[in-house]
Amino acid sequence: MTDAGTLPLRNPRTGLSDGELPITSASDVAALGAQLRQVQLTWAERSIEERCARLDALADALVARRAGFLDALLADTGRWHESQIEVDGTVGAIRRWAQQAAGCLAEKPAQQEAIPFIHSQQTWVPYAVVGVISPWNFPLMLTLIDAVPALAAGCSILAKPSEVTSRFVPLLREALDEAGLGEVFKLVTGAGATGQAVIEASDQICFTGSVATGRKVGEACARRFIPASLELGGKDPALVLADANIAYAARALAWGSFVNGGQSCMSIERVYVEAAVADAFIAALVKEASALELAWPDPKQGQIGPVIAASQIELVRGQLADAKAKGARALTGGELIEHGGVWCPPTVLVDVTDEMAVVADESFASVLPVMVVADEAEAIARANATEFGLSAAVFTQSPERAQRVARQLQAGGISINDACLTGMVQTAEKQSFKLSGMGGSRMGTASIRRFVRARALLINTGTASPWWFPPA
Ligand code: NDP
Repeated sequence: MTDAGTLPLRNPRTGLSDGELPITSASDVAALGAQLRQVQLTWAERSIEERCARLDALADALVARRAGFLDALLADTGRWHESQIEVDGTVGAIRRWAQQAAGCLAEKPAQQEAIPFIHSQQTWVPYAVVGVISPWNFPLMLTLIDAVPALAAGCSILAKPSEVTSRFVPLLREALDEAGLGEVFKLVTGAGATGQAVIEASDQICFTGSVATGRKVGEACARRFIPASLELGGKDPALVLADANIAYAARALAWGSFVNGGQSCMSIERVYVEAAVADAFIAALVKEASALELAWPDPKQGQIGPVIAASQIELVRGQLADAKAKGARALTGGELIEHGGVWCPPTVLVDVTDEMAVVADESFASVLPVMVVADEAEAIARANATEFGLSAAVFTQSPERAQRVARQLQAGGISINDACLTGMVQTAEKQSFKLSGMGGSRMGTASIRRFVRARALLINTGTASPWWFPPA
């Protein structure tokens, strides 16, 4: 391996740099890509059952290293409870794929077509090298969420997690080796340049991250004529309608907005509440938000961890300053708190307008602007008045109204009487709308189909064809 230098690792709880991340050079990434392309030929020849048995072994290897993964994730993200959910959820997802993948790609015997003597048989051809480029907010889960179904489909993997949160990489390499997957799944580390090298070395890209980088990745993939699956940012709205159970909606939205310090793509980042219940809802939300505590100094106590990425600090500070300068009021929180690292206390903002950055742009922080609307139509129109379309939530006690409103929202996953269900329910297919992404569903059985190309074998079992020239 070439020595391409290192990047500093920052601990978000202390704000201090306490480690170094080796950078994988572009030439080493290219060499790994070439190696994977060879190894994949043998991997794809194994039966899907054999491949899935290795995935099960990977789940076992993660369980055996659970404490080590928790330490790495705590050091990189500063959070404890969410890291437990992340590791356990990842293990559960791998086991589910190991059970379900074979059924998703089962090949049937050739079938008789409507045309006499013609049979057709559907086969699937995996992409050779799938490049995975992942963000810092759920480092382990978002590195494996695409890699695991791609492995099951018969692809090899070249993954680059975010430079902000790569401490789990040596442990994951160890687990992959133990599961017999080390040759077919390579992890590289570094920043944007390493990500670009991954694109150059891959046959398909799964990218999770910001819209700005997603655009660059999409352009680079288009130049290479390789498919890109882009899972990008959001500004998810929640609609609280006048017939909603208000205390329940406030509890759900405090969780949906503030869990993981708001650093989830599917976080609720805007609330539109009907005027008739606005005061009661805002009071209930403030009560819920005020009961949450920073997970400091003990990461195992409290609910709100630190701002993970240093680059987020000025962005959130700027949005809060902009909102206040334009007349918004913070009913809870409102200022970032420094304890070495930086924390964003749960912040409920009122008197906000659609022009404020905190309403228009992704915050990725525990900041929740609440806007009062006259009626359902205004709520729908303002919820849709965004360039994003990841997910949304609707609160009403009327099932008919929930259906009517949900079907008018321009987003791929709509939680009804809950928030952020898109992250919990992995069977229902969904796609991102607008700038929130592009590509097939990452959930449900369609997910695995992203990693294969359909190839039809079209067989003439007769001695002539109706469309040939007549015999000479
Ligand atoms: P970024 O877009 O900054 O980075 C994502 C990944 O891309 C990182 O690994 C990054 O490396 C890498 N990268 C940076 N530049 C390039 C480049 N030119 N070519 C290839 N790769 C590159 O996103 P964040 O890490 O800041 O993640 C937060 C974002 O992710 C939010 O917008 C969030 O909404 C979104 N997200 C979307 C999800 C979804 O499912 N829709 C899920 C989770 C998050 P490095 O970090 O080392 O610079």
